[in-house]
Amino acid sequence: MATLTFHGATRQVTGSCYLLETAHSRVLIECGLFQGPPEVDHLNERPFPFKPRDIHAVVLSHAHLDHSGLLPRLKREGFDGKVYATTQALELLDIMLKDAAHIQEKDTEWENRRRERAGDRPIAPLYTLQDVEAVLELGEPLVYGQKIRITQDIEICLRDAGHILGSAIVELWVDDDGRQKKIVFSGDLGNAATPLLRDPEIVRSADVLLLESTYGDRDHRPLPETLKEFADILAQAERDGGNVLIPAFAIGRTQELIYHLGEFYHAGKLPQTKVFLDSPMAIAATEVHQRHMQVFSREARTAIRQNGGGNAKDFLPPLHYVRSVEESMSLNRITAGAIIIAGSGMCSGGRIRHHLKWNLWREAVHVVIVGFQAQGTPGRALVDGAQRLRLLGEDIVVRAHIHTLGGFSAHAGQSDLVKWAGHFQPHPQLYLVHGELDKMQALQARIKDVHGWEAQIPAEGQVIQL
Ligand code: ZN
Repeated sequence: MATLTFHGATRQVTGSCYLLETAHSRVLIECGLFQGPPEVDHLNERPFPFKPRDIHAVVLSHAHLDHSGLLPRLKREGFDGKVYATTQALELLDIMLKDAAHIQEKDTEWENRRRERAGDRPIAPLYTLQDVEAVLELGEPLVYGQKIRITQDIEICLRDAGHILGSAIVELWVDDDGRQKKIVFSGDLGNAATPLLRDPEIVRSADVLLLESTYGDRDHRPLPETLKEFADILAQAERDGGNVLIPAFAIGRTQELIYHLGEFYHAGKLPQTKVFLDSPMAIAATEVHQRHMQVFSREARTAIRQNGGGNAKDFLPPLHYVRSVEESMSLNRITAGAIIIAGSGMCSGGRIRHHLKWNLWREAVHVVIVGFQAQGTPGRALVDGAQRLRLLGEDIVVRAHIHTLGGFSAHAGQSDLVKWAGHFQPHPQLYLVHGELDKMQALQARIKDVHGWEAQIPAEGQVIQL
């Protein structure tokens, strides 16, 4: 009898990992990193609840680390199968995992210096660049809609999830002693309102459905309202004579922002004459996007074709890429008329900290927060109205205007999730994953109301028979 075990992203949003076992094969769907406060972060070091060398293949919905970030450790501990994902997801995975390994190695080096001073034994990083390179070798690129047999008794097909470039909904067909069973994993479903990517594909049949619930409790603010507010902020910053700083996530959000700024430019609504993308990782991700415009939405492809073509710098002429540290530092001399997009998204690392240090104390500056800010991060402190901020060892007074734009989410809101799931007829067994418990309960209640359908909320380690 085939089984599915929930090994992560149960009642939380990180650490996605589901194990599918049949008479002949063991396939892992996702191998995600746990991200959050130390007690959650610690879960990354616990032994895998299975033997990595016994896993025949991994299927990956998309490149975000909470879905992919433990793959290098899986490889180091003996996994030697293939990693199936879309071509675009694998290209982004290359960027994300290398960056993650770099951060792990740096953090460990720092921690070990402290340990040495305290007379403690040194620790090893979770994984290294070498582990990352080894697992990237195992990547097996797929295109959307391509059905492929990955083991003796399991076939898969990836459908566009519209969440980030190359993101997928995973369909799996399992041959269970002559009876075929179908599992669908939603992955992270995109927000239909965002223009760059296509809407999540509709799937209609499954025996078992795993549905993400990140925003299971609410709908997002409509995008047109958010864009109007964004344009107003840019106009105000120009009148005030200051810069606009945008702490941005390198993959996905940054490319959406470039697209929106390009549209503003062509509509005569971009007063700033310079847009600096100050993040080598975001630049690399933008170049991956440029190579794969065929998976953009029809609307985005048309807009880009009519306004300069496939290069981000043609679509948004004021765009400048800032690669070197020296160039990044030279931006400190610019006090007005520029938009600076730099990572990290929550201001906890990266070049944005330097720009905040040089701009936050100026009244004419506008800081635009475009993504989720976790508790304890400098970005969250700004959102919460901090009067002063400790940055790079200096205490900086906050005189800049801080704006939070909540409408740019890359996730489907509650109504979209309920509607997407409703296309499955007859209703499969439904399990809610990838969400905090209260969000899952809200979604569970809503699905019951709208479709009269009972959703389960699985616990960590729970096993279901197919
Ligand atoms: Zn994601």
